[in-house]
Amino acid sequence: MIACLGRIVQDTDAGSIPDDDVSTISQSLDLQGTIESGGIQGVADKDFGGIYSVKPLALIKPSGTEDIARVVKAASRTSHLTVAARGNGHSINGQAMADGGFVIDMRSTEESHFKLLRIGGSSYIDVSGGALWEDVLKRCVSMFRLAPRSWTDYLGLTVGGTLSNAGVSGQAFRYGPQAQTSNVTELEVVTGKGEITVCSETQNSELFFGALGGLGQFGIITRARVKLQPAPDMVRWIRVVYSEFEEFIRDAEFLVTRGEGESFDYVEGFVFSNSDDPINGWPSVPLDPDNEFNPAHIPQTAGSVLYCLEVALHYHHSDHTSTVDSAVNGLLEGLGFVRRLKFQVNVSYMEFLLRVKRVEEHARANGIWDSPHPWLNIFVSKSSIVDFDRTVFRKMVKDGVGGPMLLYPLLRSKWDDRTSVVLPEGEIFYIVALLRFVPKGPSVEKLVAQNHEIVKWCHKEGLDFKLYLPHYQSKEDWKRHFGDQWSRFVERKFSFDPMAILAPGQKIFKRTNINRN
Ligand code: FAD
Repeated sequence: MIACLGRIVQDTDAGSIPDDDVSTISQSLDLQGTIESGGIQGVADKDFGGIYSVKPLALIKPSGTEDIARVVKAASRTSHLTVAARGNGHSINGQAMADGGFVIDMRSTEESHFKLLRIGGSSYIDVSGGALWEDVLKRCVSMFRLAPRSWTDYLGLTVGGTLSNAGVSGQAFRYGPQAQTSNVTELEVVTGKGEITVCSETQNSELFFGALGGLGQFGIITRARVKLQPAPDMVRWIRVVYSEFEEFIRDAEFLVTRGEGESFDYVEGFVFSNSDDPINGWPSVPLDPDNEFNPAHIPQTAGSVLYCLEVALHYHHSDHTSTVDSAVNGLLEGLGFVRRLKFQVNVSYMEFLLRVKRVEEHARANGIWDSPHPWLNIFVSKSSIVDFDRTVFRKMVKDGVGGPMLLYPLLRSKWDDRTSVVLPEGEIFYIVALLRFVPKGPSVEKLVAQNHEIVKWCHKEGLDFKLYLPHYQSKEDWKRHFGDQWSRFVERKFSFDPMAILAPGQKIFKRTNINRN
C-alpha cells in the first residue's frame, strides 16, 4: 500500500477552475448553510501565525454535518479540489487553509450539539467539533457545575482543532492531553469519502484513534463526547522561582509523578530572562500588581535565565482558608525554589481557566495580538532537556522571545499510543513552547530562521524530540517526524481519505484523482 503513494501524488491545480465554478458547485450542493467566494479575505486566507496566506476557492458556512458531508463529496467528484476544516484558525503555519479549495468554517456549526449524558456513573458532554472550549467551559459550569478534565492554556480554540493535535495544559500530567481516549470517548466524523461515521474505542476504532491527533487527515470531527468531572469553585494559583535548572526540573518531575491528592491539580512552568525587561524578564512573573518581583532575592549564582514553576490547587467555597494554606504549604514544603520569590493569588475556577483571555484582551489593546507569531512547540525527552536548556534557553533565546517560553514535564504513559500523536521515547518529556509575539517586518523571517536553527540543532545533537503542532514541507521530513508510525498513518489515510482531500494545509499528502478503494 505504502509503495503506491508515490504514484498517486500529483500537484493541485486550483488555477484551472473557472471563476463561475463556485456558483455551479453551490447550486449542485444544495446546502442548508452558505457558500461565499467574494469578500472572504481576512478569514479563510489568514491564521494566528500571520506568516502564510493562500487564497481558497470558497468559504463554506455549513449548518451541520450533512452540509459538511455534501461539500466533501462534491470535492471528491472533481479532480483537484481540497477541503480544509477551519476551527478558529489559531494555527501558525497555514494548516487550516486550502489553496484554491474549500474552507469550511466549523464555528458556524458550534450550536449543533450540546447534550449532557450519564454513562456508567460518569458524566459526558456531546459538543460540536466547531465549539470553542471557552463556551464548553462556561456552559458546563453554569448549567451542571461540571467541567472537562484536560484543557489548553487558551480556550479560544475549537474542540475539533485541539483534538486534531493533542490539546495540552497543566492538567495533562494527570489526565493526559484532551485527545486522550479517556477524555474523549466518541466522535462523529465526516471522512474524506464524505461518509458520516460515529467512532469510538469499540466502533470504527481505527478512525477514532486516527482522528485523535490526526492533524485533520482522516476526517472532519463534527461531534465529540467529552468526559466531565465536578468543577471546583476556586483555585489557589502559585508561581515560585528557581535559579538552578536541575532543581526546577527535579521539583517539576516530582510533582507530575505523584498521585491525585499528593500533588497540585495543575503543574506548568516557564523560563524567563534574568533581566528587568517588562515582557521577557522579572516583571512577567508576579500574579498580582501589589506583589512585585524583588531582584535582590535572586541568588548570586543565577545565570542568564531563571525558571518559574506554576502550580494550582482546586478548592471549594466551603473550604476554610487555613485548610487551603496548609494543603499548599504541605505541597511546597520540600521544594527547592527561592523562598522569597513566591507569588500567589486566589481566583475563581473560571477566571483561572480563562486567564489567557485576559492576556488576549491586553494584547489586543496594545495591537500585538494580531502581529505575526512564528511560534515553535517541541516535545523534548527528559534525557535531552539539560542539553536543550544549556544551548537553547541559556544562549539562543536568553533575552526572551517577546512572549512566554513554556517548559513543563508530561508523562508518556498518560497518552494512548493508538492515537495519531507522536511523542519522544522517554516516559518523561517536556513541552517547550516559544510563543513569540513580534511586530511585522524583517524580524519575522529572522525568527522563523531561528526556529529552523533550533530544530536543526536538535537533529544534529541527536536529541530525543518531536515537534508539537508539526509543520514540514517535504514528505521526507514528515516520514522522519512519524518514524515507525508513518506506515500506520499512511494506511489510515488510504482507508479514510484515499484522494487526499482533507486538511491540505498540513502539506503531508497531495491531492489525487485516483480513488484507490
Ligand atoms: P485550526 O487552526 O482552525 O485548525 C488546525 C488544524 O486542525 C487544521 O489542519 C484544520 O484543518 C484541522 N481542523 C480544525 N477543525 C477540525 C475538525 N473539526 N476536524 C478535523 N480537523 C480539524 N495548544 C495546546 O495544546 N495547548 C495550549 O495551551 C495552546 N495554547 C494556544 C494558545 C494560543 C493563543 C494559540 C494561538 C494556540 C494555542 N495552542 C495550544 C495551539 C492550538 O491547540 C492549535 O493551534 C489548534 O489547532 C488551534 O485550534 P483551532 O480551532 O484554531 O484550529
